[in-house]
Amino acid sequence: MIKVGINGYGTIGKRVADAVAKQPDMEVVGVVKTRPTHEARHAIKNEYALYANNMENVQTFINEGFEISGTLDDLLDKCDVIVDCTPGKIGAMNRPLYESKGVKAIFQGGEKSGTGDVSFNAQGNYATCLGKDYVRVVSCNTTGLCRTIGAVEKKYGVKKARVTLIRRGPDPGNSKKGPVNAIVPNPVTVPSHHGPDVNTIFPDMDIMTSAVIVPTTLMHLHTVIVEMNNPATTAEIKQLFKSTPRIILVKASEGITSTAEIMEHARDLGRKRGDLNEIAVWDESINVIGNELFYIQAIHQESDVVPENIDCIRAMFELTKDADESIAMTDRAMDL
Ligand code: NAD
Repeated sequence: MIKVGINGYGTIGKRVADAVAKQPDMEVVGVVKTRPTHEARHAIKNEYALYANNMENVQTFINEGFEISGTLDDLLDKCDVIVDCTPGKIGAMNRPLYESKGVKAIFQGGEKSGTGDVSFNAQGNYATCLGKDYVRVVSCNTTGLCRTIGAVEKKYGVKKARVTLIRRGPDPGNSKKGPVNAIVPNPVTVPSHHGPDVNTIFPDMDIMTSAVIVPTTLMHLHTVIVEMNNPATTAEIKQLFKSTPRIILVKASEGITSTAEIMEHARDLGRKRGDLNEIAVWDESINVIGNELFYIQAIHQESDVVPENIDCIRAMFELTKDADESIAMTDRAMDL
């Protein structure tokens, strides 16, 4: 059993912890919080050993009546790998500590790509990450792009991809960020960072992305145009997406006309927190004209990277060298 620690028990960290706990070949040895918040209460309720990020904060937890198992330093002594789910840029600051403790680490997409020695997407480059010590799982948007465009690349070849990303403002649990009444080019420069991030997984792909942020919390949405090297029909692309793990087709004809209904569908699936770990592609949006493929997809930013973190652990410890086997194992355990 691989012993996994989670540093940063927020939106991503708490989901990664739950996903690890479901796997047959790894276990959660503890989670790190900075403050005694409601999320720390949930960690205790979920029977995860709770650690403070430093000695000073240990006392804050004790003062609030929390049972605390030590500091991040203590947790690192007990785990084989730490999944760093702290807010962007903190992971890079933590890496020297992980190195000094000889503990492997996974970083998230909010970190610069150089924070890990290599970036990871299970369907894109599992083999590249075999045995690696410091790996960054790409962001939610990049994960979505790698899953669908990556599937097209493998079967038909991608000559070039052009994507517009319509990004959510904050996550649903965040009351501090906007925009409330604006559409914000973010970044205002083109390409946005997403295209170059896809290139950390598919180095040779010609991909250009631009992005705006809109007043919604539910999901990101991408409109995608792919020029293919080899011919495919609309029906063949639908079949490709249908048969690719972690992609689902949704239909406007069945009432799924927006991200709101996708999230309702996810809640109806009964998964914890109403998550949708798969990328949802609108069936009706898929259209091949000549060698160009068009489609629209939605990304549940809070959960699509979660199974990726599990496969990343398996690759780093070479629990299996076969990406498909790891993906199947993860998805079975998470009931995807
Ligand atoms: P979050 O703010 O929801 O959670 C971060 C957690 O880390 C919080 O509980 C916070 O209290 C804690 N924390 C802060 N400083 C810390 C420290 N020094 N040590 C330990 N814990 C600390 O953030 P998140 O959305 O979970 O994002 C985490 C990472 O995942 C970021 O790199 C982000 O870019 C990436 N990511 C986020 C999303 C998303 O949509 N939320 C999607 C994919 C990737």
